[in-house]
Amino acid sequence: MLDSLKDSVRKFLTGSNVYEKSVEDFIKDLQKALISADVQVKLVAQLTERIRSRLREERPPSAIERREWFIKVVYDELSALFGGDVRPFVNPPKLPYVIMLVGVQGSGKTTSAGKLALFYKRRGYKVFLVGADTYRPAALEQLTQIGRQIGVPVYGEPDSKDPVAVSSKGKERALRERAEVVIIDTAGRHGYGEEQQLLEEMKSISNAVSPDEVILVMDASIGQKAFDLASKFNQATKIGSILLTKLDGTAKGGGALSAIAATGAIIKFVGTGEKVEDLEIFNSRRFVSRILG
Ligand code: GDP
Repeated sequence: MLDSLKDSVRKFLTGSNVYEKSVEDFIKDLQKALISADVQVKLVAQLTERIRSRLREERPPSAIERREWFIKVVYDELSALFGGDVRPFVNPPKLPYVIMLVGVQGSGKTTSAGKLALFYKRRGYKVFLVGADTYRPAALEQLTQIGRQIGVPVYGEPDSKDPVAVSSKGKERALRERAEVVIIDTAGRHGYGEEQQLLEEMKSISNAVSPDEVILVMDASIGQKAFDLASKFNQATKIGSILLTKLDGTAKGGGALSAIAATGAIIKFVGTGEKVEDLEIFNSRRFVSRILG
């Protein structure tokens, strides 16, 4: 806990400095740690201001409880940014439930579609996958293979160039087969400069299938660019939640903070590896430990 700040925490707890000075020294170190974890500068400022005023106003309790109190204040404020201690609600609030995955190519959308399918299947739902990434021929193949591996049907049209039609037909088929959770994998390939086209396409698919939830899949290493990306996607189709991938890598994922601020969406899931079972429900405390670890 607070590993990267071990020294500053120790200084704070045992320091012979006047209390105000200890708070300021600690805040400075905390800011450095957050910025190096890719957290947006503006958020760092807001957050540290809240922590500063709590540390000053509440004052430490007895020496024995001081460490717990201190860590609690820092953790409370940090995890509040990620949705607090509330565990994200992941069970579908209605059935059938249509989830549309959006995100740029390489973020891990197709892999995550498979992971989510297995996740809901294990929770007892009848799941159906739709492969609407008609730009990357290998995507449907990849999804079909994952579907076979986890025993979930996959709808796709290998020769189609019309992702909107594939999504609609896929949803219809899923409902005919009485699927309870339908997961639609969309395209992300539109390179730089063609973003607008991608966003228009997301809008058209969304209008055609009326998803119950749109999940933005984002690579944790995207850093500050997350803000921009999430805002753009959010304008095209209201982002309900975020699935942050590749948290097993070196990226600390601090950029996701900025995305949350931009969209008001919450992080529901995190991807922690390449395997189909490498998916976890987001836990804000664990994430805070990672950012500061
Ligand atoms: P898409 O283009 O968004 O559909 O991305 P893919 O699903 O094809 O994933 C791109 C690459 O990222 C693949 O090599 C995946 O195995 C990998 N990947 C996806 N999610 C994770 C994750 O959580 N951790 C790691 N380490 N790799 C991931």
